[in-house]
Amino acid sequence: MNDNPFQLNLVEVMNAETGFEHSFKLSGKLEDDEEIHFIDDIKMNISVTRVGDGLMADGKILTKTELTCNLCGKPFEMKIDLGFSRYLSENPEDEYVIDKEWHFDFSQIARDEIILSLPIKIVCNNCRGV
Ligand SMILES: [Zn+2]
Repeated sequence: MNDNPFQLNLVEVMNAETGFEHSFKLSGKLEDDEEIHFIDDIKMNISVTRVGDGLMADGKILTKTELTCNLCGKPFEMKIDLGFSRYLSENPEDEYVIDKEWHFDFSQIARDEIILSLPIKIVCNNCRGV
């Protein structure tokens, strides 16, 4: 688990008072998804703020992917550059859960946000006529 570059120890922020903010830069490989082939490291700039019972994580995700066009079936490159804002908590029923040792794996957020950002129909620039 320790060699996961997206896993952060958030104890410092969790022990801080409401409003405390800390920034991180993460970078590493993400395993390919069914539809997505990552051809570059995933870079994340994250700012976490202590709020209520958890943390608010805001940031950016940058990478390059290779996708397969749904129309012509050819692979093409797509740059990912997106922002996110997610709530992390210690409540096991929440979507993004900080574990008992106050570790959190930000690759969950990277993967979810990248998948969410893709259009339902993935079409390359040639087919789109750009
Ligand atoms: Zn195409």
